[in-house]
Amino acid sequence: MKFGGTSVADIERIRHVATLVKREVERGNKVAVVVSAMAGETNKLVAWTNDAAKAEGANQVPDQREYDVVVAAGEQITSGLLAITLNAMGIKARSWLGWQVPINTSAVHGSARIEGVPATDMQKAIEGGEVAVVAGFQGVAPGTRISTLGRGGSDTSAVAVAAGINAARCDIYTDVDGVYTTDPRIVPKARRLEKIAYEEMLEMASLGAKVLQTRSVEIAMLHRVQTRVLSTFTPDVGGTLLCDEEDIVEKKPVTGIAYSRDEAKITLHKVPDKPGVSAAIFGPLADAGVNVDMIVQNVSEDGETTDLTFTCTRGELTRALAAIETHAKQIRYRAVTHTSDVAKVSIIGIGMRAHPGVAQLMFRTLAEKGINIEVISTSEIKVSVLIAEEYVELAVRALHSAYELDAA
Ligand code: ADP
Ligand code: ASP
Ligand code: MG
Repeated sequence: MKFGGTSVADIERIRHVATLVKREVERGNKVAVVVSAMAGETNKLVAWTNDAAKAEGANQVPDQREYDVVVAAGEQITSGLLAITLNAMGIKARSWLGWQVPINTSAVHGSARIEGVPATDMQKAIEGGEVAVVAGFQGVAPGTRISTLGRGGSDTSAVAVAAGINAARCDIYTDVDGVYTTDPRIVPKARRLEKIAYEEMLEMASLGAKVLQTRSVEIAMLHRVQTRVLSTFTPDVGGTLLCDEEDIVEKKPVTGIAYSRDEAKITLHKVPDKPGVSAAIFGPLADAGVNVDMIVQNVSEDGETTDLTFTCTRGELTRALAAIETHAKQIRYRAVTHTSDVAKVSIIGIGMRAHPGVAQLMFRTLAEKGINIEVISTSEIKVSVLIAEEYVELAVRALHSAYELDAA
């Protein structure tokens, strides 16, 4: 069982979570629980690390290993509090921090990858009838340094622990009662999906639906973890099951719509239109650790030069510009412009493979609303467009209706 930040936001809610755990124990199940930090807590800790780094003067970016020590603290508190609450209710329980499980991770502090969960002692404790309350989001990197898994990482802790201990089920409890056709907070007509294929959920998550962290879906898919998304507040209704594609009977062309505001766009004007130019641009970006997402190269008007546009996350923008400017001589662009006032909207569905014309409806719908498409990218089961940020909600709602996803 995994409980997100809103579900453990205060002692009263932790008590409610404890009753849900108690219920599973009374049904005869052996339980490991993964908890997030109290809602808002991680944001507060992140802000503190930035303030502290500024106080040092020149050093503007906090040391990522110390950042992890600080931001991992939120989960330490909730794991202890839930264990105390369970014990008070007469349920044997203990907390397990990332290094105690252990949840072994890579050394990429701030967004470490889980490399293994050899939870022998914890498994023994669970077998012995004790509830294991695991601090989500955190792990231990080589050299025994504390690591964290990137924002939203408790989902990944939960699925990885489930895989590590061969759990029969992994129930992700959150503040919505399942995965919806799009974010129910911006489209009230969004519908809950009874089931969603791993592949679709992977795209939804990586294209911005923060209901599950992308990496958690990858692990669920790889290890075939039986994963459900449920509501902490209405645990007995609804829910969404992640499943194989074959288990979905009705394959609509579009299953869901995702959006992301964490986008920045950079355009290089008048770069030479000849072999090797893309390599000259994207090589330095890769070396700088920038994940380039969408790319578009214009048709050359004069046969000599062309414009090239690409996107990355807003957090990577400064690094991307620095890499470009450092390599100005090799790339030989005339000018560079950038903006963060853009957002990405994506339609996702495995049914797209079998239905031609799916993208066309997207383009027409956006055109009818007067929304300009700046960049397009596609894969077998998704189409993404980059638009001005101010139109995101309008675009998502219009597409939701156009693909007949609105609830009746
Ligand atoms: P938790 O703290 O429990 O991990 P999150 O805030 O990380 O919860 O994720 C749940 C939120 O994800 C919901 O409140 C909802 O606004 C958002 N969300 C975005 N897209 C979707 C979607 N397609 N289906 C359900 N929720 C979504
Ligand atoms: N507390 C962490 C965050 O806010 C991890 C999580 O909630 O999944 O990102
Ligand atoms: Mg989350």
